[in-house]
Amino acid sequence: MIFYTIPVGRVFDIPIKIDAGIVIPIYLIANMFTSILLPQDSDGLHEPIEYLFGGLFITFSIFLSVLLHELGHSLVARRFGLETESIILFMLGGVANIKVNDMKTPKSLFEMAFFGPIVSLAIAIVCFLLLFLIPSNLLIYKCVLAISAMNVIIAVFNMLPIHPLDGSRVLWSIIWKLTGNKFFSLKIVSVLGIMGGSLIIIDTLSSFIFNANIFFGNGMSILMGALIIAMSIIDFKESDKTPMG
Ligand SMILES: [Zn+2]
Repeated sequence: MIFYTIPVGRVFDIPIKIDAGIVIPIYLIANMFTSILLPQDSDGLHEPIEYLFGGLFITFSIFLSVLLHELGHSLVARRFGLETESIILFMLGGVANIKVNDMKTPKSLFEMAFFGPIVSLAIAIVCFLLLFLIPSNLLIYKCVLAISAMNVIIAVFNMLPIHPLDGSRVLWSIIWKLTGNKFFSLKIVSVLGIMGGSLIIIDTLSSFIFNANIFFGNGMSILMGALIIAMSIIDFKESDKTPMG
């Protein structure tokens, strides 16, 4: 999934890297907004070059939002004494390399996991409020609306209880709190991750075979399912280094 990372700087003293594979979602997302969604939403009233700039602006903002989501995790982790080795933006989103398994208490794990989606929701709300200041006939209105909606999707998707997504970290912290056993609860959420990743792949394959798109329906979701299964297997084996998604 991660091919060749390029360091682009440091934020809060955390190295930020971009993986070369990111060109694939950049192209797909920019193309989706430039050629389909923006012209549809605005009844084709604008020039093609405006749609291109709009699509690029939305795509850049989505990856900036993902970076802020990961920084949310990283800053809470730092408060609990865990440093982030790096944040990598890659083809399936972002990852903050934090030794999550070193978290000392369920409460610290809960707060760290929850804060990423909270940041995404906060961005969605700020963008939504900005809409009241922008005339709705301008293309920028559609762009800000799209950025708001994408951040809601990022928050909701990450809160799915599928390991290693944030929702599963939250679930892990709750089971840890209830059982008092950190690694037993990690095993439970890892098994849920293997099942969830398999369901994503089965759903995607069945949508190819039966031509009925249920939830997911493209090659990216097969990769995502495979990544979820791989990460869950690593955690089941109690790896000491689990990146934060
Ligand atoms: Zn996250």
